[in-house]
Amino acid sequence: MKITDIRATTVTVPLEAPLLHSNGAHWGRFVRTIVEVETDNGLVGLGEMGGGGESAELAFRALAPHLLGHDPFELEALRFKIANPTAGLYNNRTQLLAAIEFACLDLVGKHLGVPVHDLLGGRIRDAVQFASYLFFRYPAGDVPEVRTPDQLVEHARALKHEHGFTVHKLKGGVFPPAHELECYRSLAEALPGDRFRYDPNSVLSLDEGLRFGRAIEDLPNDYLEDPVLGLEGLRLVRERVRIPLATNTVVVDFAQLAANVLRRAADVVLLDTTFWGGIRACVKAAAVCETFQLGVAVHSSGELGVQLATMLHLGAVLPNLTYAADAHYHHLADDVIKGGPFRYEDGRIRVPSGPGLGVELDRDKLAEYAELYRELGGYPYDRDPGRPGWYPIVPNDRWADPSRPLAPIA
Ligand SMILES: [Mg+2]
Repeated sequence: MKITDIRATTVTVPLEAPLLHSNGAHWGRFVRTIVEVETDNGLVGLGEMGGGGESAELAFRALAPHLLGHDPFELEALRFKIANPTAGLYNNRTQLLAAIEFACLDLVGKHLGVPVHDLLGGRIRDAVQFASYLFFRYPAGDVPEVRTPDQLVEHARALKHEHGFTVHKLKGGVFPPAHELECYRSLAEALPGDRFRYDPNSVLSLDEGLRFGRAIEDLPNDYLEDPVLGLEGLRLVRERVRIPLATNTVVVDFAQLAANVLRRAADVVLLDTTFWGGIRACVKAAAVCETFQLGVAVHSSGELGVQLATMLHLGAVLPNLTYAADAHYHHLADDVIKGGPFRYEDGRIRVPSGPGLGVELDRDKLAEYAELYRELGGYPYDRDPGRPGWYPIVPNDRWADPSRPLAPIA
């Protein structure tokens, strides 16, 4: 089996409503690049990467000449062909590697007639548990704003009712910490028996991080995720707060993982199949975590069905996945895969059992959302359309005002 062509298509898929985060917002849609790798035996492997546009499509096209004739089975060689660690000082291709690795695993699975998890050691669970991933959000059409503790509780209850979530993650760093603390405590009070996690994306000062952590010690927390910036910041919070610390920002490669083993700052590592450069890198990292009694979870950087499939195959094979995975997925209005979006049952999504990643593109949807991208273009992740001119600093002190209702984004 040899690679004969690589195609990349940028799509934008609507979210139910624009979602706020510490750096800005997801402006009511996700922009993703869907990658198709063709081989000489007529198979097509699928990959996905965050962001997109002409530059992303060109980046994949530029890789093509170097990968023509490459055998998708040669996954270790692929790593060095695309993301050689010293060449990486000059070109940062980890995310491109991830998308091509997904496609090669898909091809190998399709070629052999086995699901990707069988290539990774075999699944030890048939479904992966997910957290609700709650955001403060702008209103959009019939979808109401989420800003106050009551609105957040209502939103969490609705998601729990619809999807069966029993773990809830609040994405914060938007409003002043005191307001978000009230929101988080309200969630825990309203949903007894469930578990909770808070993630302000590293924007709290050490002082605020400690105050927030201490103020939730009595709650059933999974962990406190990236309350402050950096391994040393996390380590200082970890020493003084009795809650496990988690990160998806400062342990995203093996050197950082080693640093965290030698001088522990985070107890739980959120593995992201894109940030780490593929599903296989995440499996390797999880093994290191297992050895050193670090917990693992699955990170979401905003996924459509192809990327979600990579998260499901990863979650299926990790014995030490003791935490629910994260997904933005249920905030999307649609997907580009055949058969429509994956469904949650009791807060879980079944691991695909078809050959390869187990998902196929819906060509009509792909065309529809590629057209929508051409119409709407990209958006800056680190800006908030509701606060023109605003940008955050870290630690942040430029919070959104929780006393003012959020207006729909034009
Ligand atoms: Mg995070």
